[in-house]
Amino acid sequence: MYGSATYRVALSGSGMEYEPVIGLEVHCQLLTDSKIFCGCSTRFGAPANTNVCPVCLGMPGTLPVLNRRAVEYALRAALALGCRIEPVSIFARKNYFYPDLPKGYQISMYDRPLAVQGHLDVEAKGETKHVGITRVHMEEDAGKLLHEGFPDSDRASHVDYNRSGVPLIEIVSEPDMRSPEEAHAYYSALRTILVYIGVTDGNMEEGSLRCDANVSLRPRGQSGFGTKAELKNLNSFKFVQHALEYEIRRQTDLLVRGERVTQETRLYDPAEDRTSPMRSKEEAHDYRYFPEPDLLPLQVNEEWIGEVRRWLPELPAARRRRFVAEYGLPEQDAALLTSDRALADYYEAAARAARNAKAAANWVMTEILRKVKEDKIDVDRVPLPPVRLAALIRLVDDGAISGKIAKEVFETIYATGKDPADVVREQGLSQVTDEGAIREAIENVIAQNQSQYAQYKAGKTALLGFFVGQVLKATGGKASPSLVNRLLKERLDRP
Ligand code: ADP
Ligand code: ZN
Ligand code: MG
Repeated sequence: MYGSATYRVALSGSGMEYEPVIGLEVHCQLLTDSKIFCGCSTRFGAPANTNVCPVCLGMPGTLPVLNRRAVEYALRAALALGCRIEPVSIFARKNYFYPDLPKGYQISMYDRPLAVQGHLDVEAKGETKHVGITRVHMEEDAGKLLHEGFPDSDRASHVDYNRSGVPLIEIVSEPDMRSPEEAHAYYSALRTILVYIGVTDGNMEEGSLRCDANVSLRPRGQSGFGTKAELKNLNSFKFVQHALEYEIRRQTDLLVRGERVTQETRLYDPAEDRTSPMRSKEEAHDYRYFPEPDLLPLQVNEEWIGEVRRWLPELPAARRRRFVAEYGLPEQDAALLTSDRALADYYEAAARAARNAKAAANWVMTEILRKVKEDKIDVDRVPLPPVRLAALIRLVDDGAISGKIAKEVFETIYATGKDPADVVREQGLSQVTDEGAIREAIENVIAQNQSQYAQYKAGKTALLGFFVGQVLKATGGKASPSLVNRLLKERLDRP
């Protein structure tokens, strides 16, 4: 309905340009083995209602016990996002009724969150954008309504409480983003960091990461904010961007027509690529928040913070900068190699053992990533240890095999796990550096290509490449190309 053409016409008609203002609220499921307030398993995909107990089913008389591991993961995330950890934070009850919420309230944090004032720097459109993070707080997940797949699904919905009580953190950004692209870049950088530090599997299809996007418009140049809409059901990066694009067009249309944007929650429909009203925006007081009487205030001392901080790995952005400085990689290669922690680890191990950072980067980015894609495996499942790849690179650098043969050896060592030097020996793939053998091949090639030889002698020296190719072919790709080049030139240029 709101095509981009309409958007442009409307804009030029009004003579006013609007700027989008976007803030994201991201829910992230923590990778703990057990739930946040009970010992039930958090495993995804278990038969419905098998990972439940009286606590996460909200039975009367049960008491929540805070999972220390969940706090540790939340702290890890907050520290990675540069937040200040509050010495005391308080769990609160957020009261509402919904069939997926057996207690009638969700235990969350309200006015005393775990951490505040962080930030994340993201790259969008070639620029670095600083996005403020308002807060990181902990809460429990709700159950899941099942509307399909049962004989009575036309009349009833079923509910699975396995997810009830799974630990979450909510990461609330400042309204600092100004385009759907920036929102996309922020969300994607956030996912990378959270997966990097091992607090989530980042699986958006399974709901491990969920995002609500808030967006409003304001006349460009104005400093105050307009009325926002909150968009839900954005379970992929693409949906976040598309929903925002649609919503910006919709709000622009309203404003251009002199109408107002209503503060509301809207649902994105990916099939229709549009948003529609879900409910009017609820206010905090609607939830009757009050401190959870069954849990003590959460106290995090400096010692605990220090422990978690020491554990934190080098984060993707710092690692990317280091790869550029230490290994001399182009920015783009460094970004690709650090986009996944296992990939970056693999690369570094290979680069160090090979003592050739550039070659290692090329092998990892082309051959290893090709295998990962073809075999649909994670990098930490790659059967070829990085030191083996490094040994292969050394064989090329030492002149033992040509680059072309190295690709063949790669396939063999990847499939068999053999040592590359053994493969070279067993299959007789050593580079021919014996000048006599190469000279012999050159004579044969010249004898078989008399007309090209005559043309070369008549001045068509560009034919050198042709001869190099023929000689390499004659030696089964095993002759050292630089040696072939030199010997051929000597022979062809001989008067
Ligand atoms: P609410 O009171 O509706 O929950 P908050 O102030 O808590 O709103 O903010 C929720 C999210 O909405 C945050 O990510 C914030 O950055 C974003 N946000 C707040 N105001 C606006 C606005 N006018 N336009 C776009 N996003 C906004
Ligand atoms: Zn339980
Ligand atoms: Mg709020």
